[in-house]
Amino acid sequence: MTTTGGLRLPRTPRPLTNERVSRIPASGIRKFFDLIAGVEGAISLGVGEPDFVTPDPFREAAIRSIRDGKTKYTSNYGIRPLREAISEHTAKLRHVMYDADREIIVTVGVSEAVDLALRATLNDGDEVILADPSYVAYVPGVVLAGGVPIAVPTREEDDFRLRPEDVGAAITSRTRAILLGFPNNPTGAVLEKADVDGIARLAVEHDLLVYADEIYDRLVYGSEHHSIVSVPEMKERTIYLAGFSKSYAMTGWRVGYACAPAEIVEQMMKIHQYTVMCVPTAAQYAALEALTSGEAEVQRMVAEYDKRRRYMWKRFNDLGLHCFEPRGAFYCFPNITSTGLTDDQFCEQLLKHEQVVVVPGNAFGERGRGHVRACYAASMEQIVEACDRIARFVGHVAG
Ligand code: PLP
Repeated sequence: MTTTGGLRLPRTPRPLTNERVSRIPASGIRKFFDLIAGVEGAISLGVGEPDFVTPDPFREAAIRSIRDGKTKYTSNYGIRPLREAISEHTAKLRHVMYDADREIIVTVGVSEAVDLALRATLNDGDEVILADPSYVAYVPGVVLAGGVPIAVPTREEDDFRLRPEDVGAAITSRTRAILLGFPNNPTGAVLEKADVDGIARLAVEHDLLVYADEIYDRLVYGSEHHSIVSVPEMKERTIYLAGFSKSYAMTGWRVGYACAPAEIVEQMMKIHQYTVMCVPTAAQYAALEALTSGEAEVQRMVAEYDKRRRYMWKRFNDLGLHCFEPRGAFYCFPNITSTGLTDDQFCEQLLKHEQVVVVPGNAFGERGRGHVRACYAASMEQIVEACDRIARFVGHVAG
């Protein structure tokens, strides 16, 4: 109430929440995750998470660290042995050398790494180019950091690659960065070497930063992952983001990392320091073990995902739901328009009639419409059963 000459007038209530935060929607994936909870016999191909339990040696390393009394805060940058292991790993895999003291920070999953990278580098109104469709956190992350997301369409006929010519056409005087998430969630697309080189050339020419989210870098099938950080002149303008959730089956441990020029890592560290301090200590020891001894486990899981990928991809195509070959991550992204349903209708009705969860493509951007994302990091038995149910559903819709 306000008082005017003795009169008490109702005051327009002030919004309780921040305008930027209120503007971003909650994730379209979680909605389906919540809907399925408690539904008997339901199968979820909805959430992008390995069905494997974290391999034993990684879990043991965490338990050992607790027994050894390693229960205190660590350096804000993460334990030094883990940063050294990340440095060696990146040198071996990407042929780029990062200084473990100044150019690496261990984060709460790649989720935090993306957020820190955006917040540490963007100023209000900076434009960030990203692929449409892409990971659900990118657009909100850019908005929360004060930036402006510029969605560049990727197309089924190009196997959902981000084409340098489309990126070039989206660059303006306000463009600050390109956010590259390949292998891609939700499409499973990978970039060819020529795509990566072309995008790198644009970044150098226009003096842009690149956020390279390579969380799925190990999950590629029958092709090689091309990292933009390996391209000459790119180390100094790339923030390389990777982690343990997917390749090492460690989603619940919440460990990721960022490698970048020291000047950027220093700013990222300040936000991290004032918000989370450090990644839980035991989780860092598990991650260290994963990098030290986990290669065989990664190979074993990749071989298993590949079997499931081939099976699911074939089943979708046999059903008349055209699906390009996903060569990375662990998702199929079939086109469901032949059913006459929208992607939202398809997902809702499939859940209702057959208790199978897949995610509508539009949760990942406008260009995802007409597709659904199905994660094949579920057991083979579950995938077979889910595909049988989807076949029955599609037959029913067609009939
Ligand atoms: N980036 C991409 C492309 C993802 O798909 C995900 C999770 O699904 C993340 C980042 C977040 O992963 P993390 O568990 O490391 O936070």
